[in-house]
Amino acid sequence: MWLSYLRKYDPVVAQIILRELERQRYTLELIPSENFASVSVLEALGTILTNKYSEGYPGRRYYGGNEYVDMIENLAIERAKKLFKVPYVNVQPYSGTPANIAVYLACCEMGDTIMGLDLRHGGHLSHGWKVSFSGRFYRSVPYHLNEDGYIDMDEVWKLAEEYKPRIIWCGYSAYVRKFPFKEFSEVADAVGAYMVADIAHIAGLVAAGLHPSPTPYAHIITTTTHKTLRGPRGAMIMITEKGLEKDPELAERIDKAVFPGVQGGPHDHVTAAIAVALGEAMKPEFKEYAKQIVRNAKRLASELISYGYKLVTDGTDIHLMLVDLTPISIGFGAIAQEALELAGITVNKNTIPNEQSSPFYPSGIRLGTPAITTRGMREKEMSEIAGFIHRVLQEVSHYSLPPKGRRSFIKKIREELSQNNTIKEVREDVKKLCERFPLYPELR
Ligand SMILES: *Cc1c(COP(=O)(O)O)cnc(C)c1O
Repeated sequence: MWLSYLRKYDPVVAQIILRELERQRYTLELIPSENFASVSVLEALGTILTNKYSEGYPGRRYYGGNEYVDMIENLAIERAKKLFKVPYVNVQPYSGTPANIAVYLACCEMGDTIMGLDLRHGGHLSHGWKVSFSGRFYRSVPYHLNEDGYIDMDEVWKLAEEYKPRIIWCGYSAYVRKFPFKEFSEVADAVGAYMVADIAHIAGLVAAGLHPSPTPYAHIITTTTHKTLRGPRGAMIMITEKGLEKDPELAERIDKAVFPGVQGGPHDHVTAAIAVALGEAMKPEFKEYAKQIVRNAKRLASELISYGYKLVTDGTDIHLMLVDLTPISIGFGAIAQEALELAGITVNKNTIPNEQSSPFYPSGIRLGTPAITTRGMREKEMSEIAGFIHRVLQEVSHYSLPPKGRRSFIKKIREELSQNNTIKEVREDVKKLCERFPLYPELR
């Protein structure tokens, strides 16, 4: 039985985990940064490797007893090198944000200028947003999207030439088109900056060849391992041949920045699970999976457009899309997220380009297909899901956010909608769809 010891010795924790398993099983997970790791990945995570201290790197550790941990870490590194065609990899960052912190530490002095896409336009917190360390300790010069939702390369050129940044980030959390690695490498080369590709979201698509690789263009590549790559929560920093040409000591500096710069002992159980996920990503089945992610996203996008919704850039090239709900009302993303959650459809509210509301009550929602594709859903199911979303949004379209008292307003509509019959019906239909695509049948 799954969790048999935990159920016996700490039933309180076990019951909460089992309830979360039920939630994952019977809801539609459309958050584009989430996925369902394989049972093999889960098994590797739950091992005795968590007991070990192994500060340092394979062959040069501060503690004894690292014979097998070295084997695990070297295996993860070798697989990542092969998959992403890079000469150097560090697999120790605890997550995407710490990986990016290590890049700053390796490449910048405090107060140096950095450039990333504005958070509200789809960039990541760690690329210079004002409340993050990256916006507080470095001089952040953000770039933006055009009116049409594509990156404004003219602005990127202008800012880069004017401010001469040390680092230019090309990598996004809510950008729906191909990442322009080549164009960014031209800018970075022209001004002598490090070009860092952050492929946290698209790593699985890059690994499978469904999105162009940044390897020929970037100096450094950072990624999480838990999004489209479908591994454990973790991250990697890779250095390309181009990066080593620019700076032959870059690898050493990145290693030092990760440990002892920003981290202590590596999470060896996670490293093992990363090795497993990378092994999976090398198989032909994973390529099929990645193809289906994109096909599903394109179908979901076109169905939503046919219901009359406005999508940023009118579609998607990758695994996610942004629905601009401004035509319903400004700030409607926050209402949509609540209503969809009650119907068993998990999405996240998101700012849209030229947002007229705030990041906490934005006007859009972000939808992605990696998790539902892992369950085996295909184009036909995407059409069904678009129909569910439309039924829910139609039902709540008369609500609009008041200028004040927004928190209590959201609470009030949540109570009202929990009694709503249409939402209850959609909830039932969502459950039936989920039952047709069983999640973790092995875990019982
Ligand atoms: C998710 C993400 C990260 C950070 O990942 P965490 O593991 O949540 O710290 C970094 N960069 C981008 C572009 C992301 O989408």
